[in-house]
Amino acid sequence: MPIAKKLKSYIGLLVLVLLILLPVFILSQSLPLAKLFSPWPVLFGTLGKLTGLIGLAAFSFSLLLASRFVWLDRLFHGLPRVLNVHRWLGVISFVFIIFHPLFLAARFLPVSSQAAWLIFSFWGNAAYLFGYIAMLIFMGLILMTFLWRLRYERLKSLHSLLSVPLMIGGIHGLLIDSDIKRIPWLAAYFIILISVSVVAYLLRLALVHYGIKAKAYSILAIGHSSKNSIKVTLAPDKKAIEMKPGQFIFVSFPDIKKGEEHPFSVAEINSDGSIAIVAKILGDYTKKMDSLEKGFKAYVDGPYGSFGDGISINERQVWIAGGIGITPFLSMARDFTSCPTQNAKVDLFYVVSSLDDLAEADSLKKMSAACPNFNLTTYISDKEGRFDLEKLRSMAKDLKSCQFYICGPAGMIEYFVSVLRKENIPKNCINIEAFKLL
Ligand SMILES: Cc1cc2nc3c(=O)[nH]c(=O)nc-3n(C[C@H](O)[C@H](O)[C@H](O)COP(=O)(O)OP(=O)(O)OC[C@H]3O[C@@H](n4cnc5c(N)ncnc54)[C@H](O)[C@@H]3O)c2cc1C
Repeated sequence: MPIAKKLKSYIGLLVLVLLILLPVFILSQSLPLAKLFSPWPVLFGTLGKLTGLIGLAAFSFSLLLASRFVWLDRLFHGLPRVLNVHRWLGVISFVFIIFHPLFLAARFLPVSSQAAWLIFSFWGNAAYLFGYIAMLIFMGLILMTFLWRLRYERLKSLHSLLSVPLMIGGIHGLLIDSDIKRIPWLAAYFIILISVSVVAYLLRLALVHYGIKAKAYSILAIGHSSKNSIKVTLAPDKKAIEMKPGQFIFVSFPDIKKGEEHPFSVAEINSDGSIAIVAKILGDYTKKMDSLEKGFKAYVDGPYGSFGDGISINERQVWIAGGIGITPFLSMARDFTSCPTQNAKVDLFYVVSSLDDLAEADSLKKMSAACPNFNLTTYISDKEGRFDLEKLRSMAKDLKSCQFYICGPAGMIEYFVSVLRKENIPKNCINIEAFKLL
């Protein structure tokens, strides 16, 4: 990743951390620090407040990040990174929110364990009741998300319910006799943050469901790209979305299922605004894509990601594609080979299990034949064995001075990142695209 962009993504993270810690700063302005940390029942009380404030803030920002706005993708340099931060914030808020009542209860342990337990028994008090309900729903949803092996679409539906405990938790914070009620700045912070997060998240769900966020396209051509994959060319009904090579989009075909969108890398970006995706036939949705026909509608949301951002830089590059991981490289290769003046040299290693998986082989061969700086090696692992570092070394010289771009199955990405790091290839010279969002 170019240094300037990396710095920008760290700035996004830093701003996020500061915003999450802002309630702690506001709290520290209203009470002398010495009074917050001793004696130890007071310390537990303070820890209870801090875990509650930080947990609620982290939860709100986690939901905001899941709203999948394109500006978040730009700020954090790619949607996969945004969703990674979203996941971490989910874990942090879960831990903090669990510890919030435990610390508050621990304040009363010097009196008696019954006194401590009392904090969990005010079911008749609305402020406490909202807290208990928010906590139970939140814990249930997070545990189901992490422990159950749910289908992606189920997981997404479950996730969409997370705005409910956030709203209820916010009401608990405003009603209960707490710092949020006492300090107007804290109240303003949480009212604004929770409202923005919930509205942004629900708006995104509604916009996606009704196809408003996405742009309307129609299928211009459809056919098999290999035995196991389908190529769909889409033309914009009105204005085309501007995309860069290597980016990905969310596509939904209402003829398969209204509102269900799947991410696909853009395999082709044409000057007339049309684009193409190549989908491996894998599960429910991609199997049904086989029955789509010319003229059917599609809704496209995006673009997201930044995988292809460095390809115009003049240097030696090694691209490794595993199976359907070839798709971002297809648009990157087209872009790279269309500009013959550049000094960069690309070696693309396209690794598939069998010939049935070899998609768009002819167009890649043509690009390679037309551009001497673009070398294509196809590798069939069923015949030639596993493609590993030794094989790569025997085919590409001087790996030390290369930029690496890797897209493919998770195991393959992990393997190459680990062996290249052991070869002292700097982290910022290894660019990856994983076809996984959650
Ligand atoms: C950034 C990115 C780019 C991708 N580019 C391509 C591409 O160019 N070509 C290609 O064939 N595949 C691509 N994929 C993978 C593709 O999205 C899944 O293969 C497809 O959604 C599978 O759907 P299914 O119902 O047919 O399969 P299933 O068997 O239901 O799902 C297989 C896996 O795909 C993922 N998945 C399923 N549904 C969704 C969804 N709605 N949103 C996100 N992920 C989902 C889950 O990890 C799931 O485990 C990409 C994925 C990502 C994250």
